[in-house]
Amino acid sequence: MSLIEIDGSFGEGGGQILRTSLSLSLLTGKAFRIDRIRAGREKPGLLRQHLTAVEAAARVGGAKVEGAEAGSKCLTFVPGPVRAGEYRFAVGTAGSATLVLQTVLPALMLASGESTLTLEGGTHNPAAPPFDFLERTFVPLLERMGPRVKLEFERYGFYPAGGGRFRAIISPVPKLAPLELGARGEVVSRRIVAMVANLPFHIALRELETAADLLNWGPETHVKRSTKDSISPGNTVMVEIGSGEVTEMFTGFGQRGVTAEQVASGAVDEAREYLASTAAAGEHLADQLLLPMALAGAGSFTAVKLNLHARTNMEVIRRFLDVEFGCRESGQHVEVTVRGIG
Ligand code: AMP
Repeated sequence: MSLIEIDGSFGEGGGQILRTSLSLSLLTGKAFRIDRIRAGREKPGLLRQHLTAVEAAARVGGAKVEGAEAGSKCLTFVPGPVRAGEYRFAVGTAGSATLVLQTVLPALMLASGESTLTLEGGTHNPAAPPFDFLERTFVPLLERMGPRVKLEFERYGFYPAGGGRFRAIISPVPKLAPLELGARGEVVSRRIVAMVANLPFHIALRELETAADLLNWGPETHVKRSTKDSISPGNTVMVEIGSGEVTEMFTGFGQRGVTAEQVASGAVDEAREYLASTAAAGEHLADQLLLPMALAGAGSFTAVKLNLHARTNMEVIRRFLDVEFGCRESGQHVEVTVRGIG
């Protein structure tokens, strides 16, 4: 049996190398073996969240898997046929449930029938897309490529307790349509959403005040949320910028020992960098658009910048698909093009 050999320490050396390999193995039917998993991270190897992604991919694709154990640095994945259907995937810790969804979503949005997924774990985690980012930024762009992905939020999950839950109902298409995301154009909507779960409301108010002051945005942009729908305390502030092409979102995550003002200004720094450019995609959205665009076999988008994470992702994608990526610096953004070859 021929296996694609993936070096998990390559480039950025994070979990995305594994997740992209799982997604594309399901879609291409190509088996792979990955070594030195997450070698670039403080706690290398498979954590609960990555194991759940492996298990999810294995169930969706009836795969044979070796090495799927906590801490494992080597994994072999031999996929079978992708089956649409009803699935429940639970991370069991606060590990990101949104990243588990992103692992199986590409295969299920090109499967032969509708799927309903229940995902449990973290919904708003540092270093992962928060649920709101999926709902307002990522999924609307995917839907422009053809599939329908209905997200239903149930409960928040924060570090370290987890316990969040949401559902995704996926209506697939036979082929993705290319997406062309040009320069951003005029900003048409602005929001700052400050949310606290089981924490004093003044945290959200201070975050709104700090972010609004730094951005010079008026009170009409403020959205306050307080919820008890979480088993632990949690806090996020999300700066949302809508333009004709896209709604982008920059998130600060509350943490013990970090002030509300610091959380807000972290999100504002990213938002300002975005506003100073003419790009449609911020750096996180940029790396997440690469895989669907490569599957469509064509398309382009403008990005603030292409970080090492995105460049690493391009390399992994090219191990599975015959595609070429082009990057061209142009004024206040980078233009990324994707083209199928062969
Ligand atoms: P990794 O660090 O390799 O496990 O990958 C993390 C993934 O989460 C990448 O696709 C990032 O773009 C994404 N991500 C991290 N932080 C954010 C954020 N604040 N908003 C949206 N996506 C994020």
